[in-house]
Amino acid sequence: MNEERDRFLTEAMGMCWHDFDPDDHINTYSLEAYICKKCKGFILGNNDFSVEEDFSRLLDWVKGQKRFQKLLARFSEPDFKDAGKGQSARDKFADELYLFLKQ
Ligand SMILES: [Zn+2]
Repeated sequence: MNEERDRFLTEAMGMCWHDFDPDDHINTYSLEAYICKKCKGFILGNNDFSVEEDFSRLLDWVKGQKRFQKLLARFSEPDFKDAGKGQSARDKFADELYLFLKQ
């Protein structure tokens, strides 16, 4: 997980990069949850864009914006869901998006 990248992208999406104490969790059902000190939300953790579930939110955000279409066109969408190369494809896309936005 690339935390600096994921924090930057989360905030670029207008979402909260949650601030929580990892030692202070609430056990709920079988999940470990936290309360964010910033948004007061009940959360499971921060975005990790190498993970498919979090990545799909990033991809939806990217797809809705014209400025990202050139970058998106260099990738093949099925790769992001591929069981084998999916994680590296998602990481590579998130890395390039991060560099693009940092410019
Ligand atoms: Zn938060």
